[in-house]
Amino acid sequence: MRGIYIYNSFTGEELFGTSINGFEDESRLNSIKDKTHDVYTFLDIKKREPVGSFLCDIISMDFNNVIVLLEQGGTKLLFSKTGLSTRFFRSKDMILGDINTLYLLKEYIDICAEYPLLYSSDYFEGFLDAVNGYDSLPEVVSYSVRKDELEQNEIIIGEDITLPSETDRSYIDLDTYDFRKNSAILRETLLEYVPHSYDPDNTVFVYEVSDLLGAALGAARTLIEEHFQIKKCGICGKYFVPLNRSDTLYCDRISPADPTRTCKEYGSQKLWYDRLKADEAAKLSRNIYSAKQMLVKRNPDILGYKKMFEYFKTERKKWEVWVKSGKKSKEEYISWLNEMKAKKTL
Ligand SMILES: [Zn+2]
Repeated sequence: MRGIYIYNSFTGEELFGTSINGFEDESRLNSIKDKTHDVYTFLDIKKREPVGSFLCDIISMDFNNVIVLLEQGGTKLLFSKTGLSTRFFRSKDMILGDINTLYLLKEYIDICAEYPLLYSSDYFEGFLDAVNGYDSLPEVVSYSVRKDELEQNEIIIGEDITLPSETDRSYIDLDTYDFRKNSAILRETLLEYVPHSYDPDNTVFVYEVSDLLGAALGAARTLIEEHFQIKKCGICGKYFVPLNRSDTLYCDRISPADPTRTCKEYGSQKLWYDRLKADEAAKLSRNIYSAKQMLVKRNPDILGYKKMFEYFKTERKKWEVWVKSGKKSKEEYISWLNEMKAKKTL
């Protein structure tokens, strides 16, 4: 199976497609073939997504659960339960064969979050060395894209590039001092990678991928090279790439906390609500403190007031710790404060 991974650096979008063999509309395929030459790959590029979406979905999987699902009901059950794309999951064995390396890719991302120094092309090579993943890295392919095809959500890919071999006449000879000849060969070789319809402002990178692991590694390499961060969502805990603002805390998936909103929508509202509640609790707490302090000052002979004031001070400290750690909610704290407000003695 041939697969294609495309990254558009101008729009910040990625897409994964399958080869011409998977294309069902024969007549459409033939009409394209007539107009062009050689072998082409045809892609459905309707499913464009923000760069990193595919990789983040893969590394957010519950890996133990993937194995359980595969053993129980094969790939069908896995797709229906996880909602992952089926394009690169052809067989159960292929997924099981790649799952260890995919898990380690997730680990690499986690380690990079701890040591950002490691999130660079050089250290990614170190990761590939460690997991023996070089052979799975997707290779770049030359391509030609016509504007009208892009509008139709289709892309035609040119033939694979063949680099000059040692026996080739155009092989660069480092034992000669023929700078001009060598540089001409270098130029010719590199220009093979430049698409026919090259637009410096709208660079589209096309890679050929052979399996799920290749797709994931290629996407990871792109994110690293383009300096895109990978973060963990503060609501659902899944990985995501903050594309517009690097201080974004939440992802754009449907939120598990509220299926009518995304994590980002839910999260920003929750932040606002939490802050509001925190303000309300702080204000209430201050008022009760002054009221109880005043009561003690004005009635130094009533021991019950003094005891209550001391009790409130120590308990309030505990509540603040509980709320901060999430052990108790702000609503519970406010209801306790209201209870304290109503009581003059214990
Ligand atoms: Zn999320």
